[in-house]
Amino acid sequence: MAFRCTACDADHEALPDLGMRAPDPYLAVPEDERAARTTFSEDRCTVEDDDGVHYFVRGVLYIPIHGQDEPFGLGVWVSQSRTNYERYERNEDMEPTFGWLVNRIGHYAEDTLLLKTRVHFHGGTSRPTFELEPTAHPLALDQRCGISLARAWEIVHRYLPN
Ligand SMILES: [Zn+2]
Repeated sequence: MAFRCTACDADHEALPDLGMRAPDPYLAVPEDERAARTTFSEDRCTVEDDDGVHYFVRGVLYIPIHGQDEPFGLGVWVSQSRTNYERYERNEDMEPTFGWLVNRIGHYAEDTLLLKTRVHFHGGTSRPTFELEPTAHPLALDQRCGISLARAWEIVHRYLPN
């Protein structure tokens, strides 16, 4: 069913999932230093700095959409301990772990960097899913309470062309 978008006034069909390309700490490394200081794949990333090596995994933060069965999937990155990063790499069965969100999501006026998340692993080729700590941060509220379809499209339009 087409949806008349209040952000761009066009008719849209299915809401796309949105993905942050890389962890912000990776993007902060100058491009000519990335070969020496980072590793990067679609699912995993490491960044070395003066404090040592930092480990990041990509997953999905689902936000329910009011009146829709399918949630909005926001692809983002969180930090992991080295131990958990390596267990994920070996595809071990894992209990939920702790991770810091390492993407600024520009739609939110309050910084989303370093929000606390619980990371759920699903095995096989499924991406982990992230559950934000239940704070009053607008992104955490959105994940708990859901957003309108119009709001979801506003977020999408910050990143994708109309
Ligand atoms: Zn639109």
